[in-house]
Amino acid sequence: MAEPQQKRLKNIVIVGGGSAGWMTAAALSTMLPKGSARVTLIESDKIGTVGVGEATIPDMLNFNAMLGINEAEFLKATNGTFKLGIEFIDWGQKGETYFHPFGSHGVDMQGIDFHQYWLHAKKSGQPFPLENYSICGVAAAQNKFALPDRNPRSVLSHLRYAYHIDATLYAKYLRNFAETRGVTRFEGLVETVAQDNETGHITGLTLENGDVIEGDFFFDCTGFRALLTEKTLGVPFTDWSHWLPCDTAQTVASERVGELLPYTKSTAKTAGWQWRIPTQHRTGNGHIYSSQYMNDDEAVDILLAGLDSPMKGEPRKIRFKTGHRKTLWNKNCIAVGLSAGFLEPLESTSLYLIQVGISRFISLFPTADVSDIIRDEYNLQMETEFNQVRDFLILHYVATDRDDSPFWNYCRNMSIPDSLQRKIDLFKEAGRVFRYDGELFSKPSWIAVGIGQNLYPKTTDPIVASLPAAQVNHSLDSMRTAMAKTVAQMPTHEDFLKNYGAAV
Ligand code: FAD
Repeated sequence: MAEPQQKRLKNIVIVGGGSAGWMTAAALSTMLPKGSARVTLIESDKIGTVGVGEATIPDMLNFNAMLGINEAEFLKATNGTFKLGIEFIDWGQKGETYFHPFGSHGVDMQGIDFHQYWLHAKKSGQPFPLENYSICGVAAAQNKFALPDRNPRSVLSHLRYAYHIDATLYAKYLRNFAETRGVTRFEGLVETVAQDNETGHITGLTLENGDVIEGDFFFDCTGFRALLTEKTLGVPFTDWSHWLPCDTAQTVASERVGELLPYTKSTAKTAGWQWRIPTQHRTGNGHIYSSQYMNDDEAVDILLAGLDSPMKGEPRKIRFKTGHRKTLWNKNCIAVGLSAGFLEPLESTSLYLIQVGISRFISLFPTADVSDIIRDEYNLQMETEFNQVRDFLILHYVATDRDDSPFWNYCRNMSIPDSLQRKIDLFKEAGRVFRYDGELFSKPSWIAVGIGQNLYPKTTDPIVASLPAAQVNHSLDSMRTAMAKTVAQMPTHEDFLKNYGAAV
């Protein structure tokens, strides 16, 4: 039977040239067959970009691979460094530190998760923290780096990594990438948006200089302004500030000092937390806090006191609201990036959510009529994605013993989503963690943060608990020895960047 004639999308318009806009443009310019649709991007120098977004997670490697980007060239262009995980300081309790590594801890044995053996060994006095069984954790502690090994028997096969990048350079790099592949860029402020009287679909945009840009599909990448999604289509916002109460950031770069760390630092403060992100030419710093519990002057003082080198430029304040648009795809328009929603950068998930937003669109690529079922599926998948990330972020705030400020007292006692409560209860019972619906953060992440913030289960797995402690300790010792040997042979992070041709 002959297929019905398809009305293809021919004219895709992206509004916004921050990371979201240029990531979308770069992906479309690579994925769409040449000549199948025109891709146009509009950005306004008058508005500029948010300019932060320096830490990433390993999924970014897939995005770069999809675009066919050369890793060393990418790192050089973005002043990038490698990231093996995040060091969390003062989160569970003041004075405590743990590491959330990419990749796994140890090796599961007899089908039972590694951390069950670790919990059993800990009870019998084994003193080593969980991260000593993660190749990323051990390498990070010594400022070492190497690429993963494909051989599954190698310790290095468990290594996962991401990047720290300069967000402004990243958008510039992608702009060059996308323009080379045929994306047309306009500079100008979008002033009015035209819609079809019957369907409400967006049909065109008028710029400040009077130019009209028409399209049959639109990406709203206008950042917190959400020009198309909120101001034009009136899509409501689902507010999660009661679960993630931080709403303001003070950011500033500082000079680069000392060795280049292959990890992000996150230090909990009185009413939020502070990040330190090392790139090749500078350190990115930011203090995220709740304006309900701290004023701006105090927040800036804390930011500056937490720098380890002289600042470059002046601190910049960014206000935000945590949550997401009720639906991300409305009519013939998808919100990608900050216009879609924002979850604070505690686990560096925003660029990832942009990436998922684009790849889900490509996997559901519509015809020009845009059927409801496709749109609904996209919205369902993206909502699930946001919910899952949200739960993992809330875990950091609720699993704490800190009682030294009204902010932490609120977080420790707040009611949390049922989905998270269930996970915590299950973990507390016997250390069980499961990954639902292909969620982003898998077992090692939940275990690292849970145990790192003193969420110890009542009992361990009964099968493991019945094993002699000496036998378990022996297995754990061999794993630690193998990791230590491997890391001893790895180059320093900085030497690796130089030898890889990625140093600036
Ligand atoms: P923006 O960068 O704000 O870009 C908006 C674009 O829209 C601009 O080009 C502007 O010119 C254009 N525009 C707006 N209105 C108009 C108009 N009327 N006409 C024409 N053009 C218009 N993410 C991570 O993954 N890791 C992190 O470590 C991280 N840290 C962050 C820290 C903070 C404090 C914040 C606030 C965000 C952080 N993020 C992080 C998120 C990340 O910065 C953003 O997700 C990412 O930069 C995408 O932003 P965007 O492109 O959506 O918006």
